[in-house]
Amino acid sequence: MKRPVLLIDDSENILTRMKEFLEKLGQKEIHLEKCIENGIKKFQELSKEGIHPIAFIDYDIQDGSGISLLSRLLELDPDGEIIIMTALEKNSEIISKLINEGAYEILSKPIRLEALKNIFSIIELENSEEPKYADISELLKTTNRLSEAWLSDKLSVNNEELNKNIERWISDGKIKQIEDIKEVFCPSCNSIKTGHIFHCPQCKRSDFNQIDLIEHYSCGNIAEEREFRNDKCPSCNKELKALGIDYRRIKNHYVCNSCENKFSEIGCDFLCLNCNKQFTEEEAVWKSSRGFLGISKYA
Ligand SMILES: [Zn+2]
Ligand SMILES: [Zn+2]
Ligand SMILES: [Zn+2]
Repeated sequence: MKRPVLLIDDSENILTRMKEFLEKLGQKEIHLEKCIENGIKKFQELSKEGIHPIAFIDYDIQDGSGISLLSRLLELDPDGEIIIMTALEKNSEIISKLINEGAYEILSKPIRLEALKNIFSIIELENSEEPKYADISELLKTTNRLSEAWLSDKLSVNNEELNKNIERWISDGKIKQIEDIKEVFCPSCNSIKTGHIFHCPQCKRSDFNQIDLIEHYSCGNIAEEREFRNDKCPSCNKELKALGIDYRRIKNHYVCNSCENKFSEIGCDFLCLNCNKQFTEEEAVWKSSRGFLGISKYA
């Protein structure tokens, strides 16, 4: 059974291109949303008993921040697959963080049909009755750093069989062992399928936007960029002249849409994608297992 696909992106171009690709791949139910709030509403509408949408979200979306959107969707339906579309480098630190944070996959912009196809074939494999990765190449198409614990979860085979496979993949030159990888497990059901839930440190809700602040050197005023109307400082009313000379931009601040708190450190809890338990960093169970690196033309 095909699952509904939801696209959330503020770029008309990307929506059109993605829709074209999805239709080529035989997807029947495709929903397009341009703003975060409508996107979230639609996601909630699509998540029903036994039906979990596959959502493609724009990480660089204008009217909010991708990380808040990811948290809010995961909270609504931890079984939904959320794929992040971004122009960020695939090997950047943020990307590996996003995957740990519960994003299912990352789709790099510009979006290629082949990459999109890979994502669907992995989703299909994982949702088939008996997932079997006789060939690890499928898994290596989208991730190249794997842990033994993660593999054991993906493959759902016993330890003996897993070890046999690992040895074979190593001798076939598909993966090589690296240092151990430490990962979070759910303290309640012991599952490795966990994500992060980000929230405002004050009211603990996940509905926040990223904002840029501007510091006006001559008067010391720090305010949101949008308050500097017509490039005039809202405090001293003088005009901003040149970036780096009389003012600077401060990136990575957030404003909470619920309590209006402004903050730079996002609050964070874990969410178990298996049993839905939310837990704090202190409650998390950390375990190490052997780490592997994929040796593949796709890696
Ligand atoms: Zn759990
Ligand atoms: Zn708040
Ligand atoms: Zn000023």
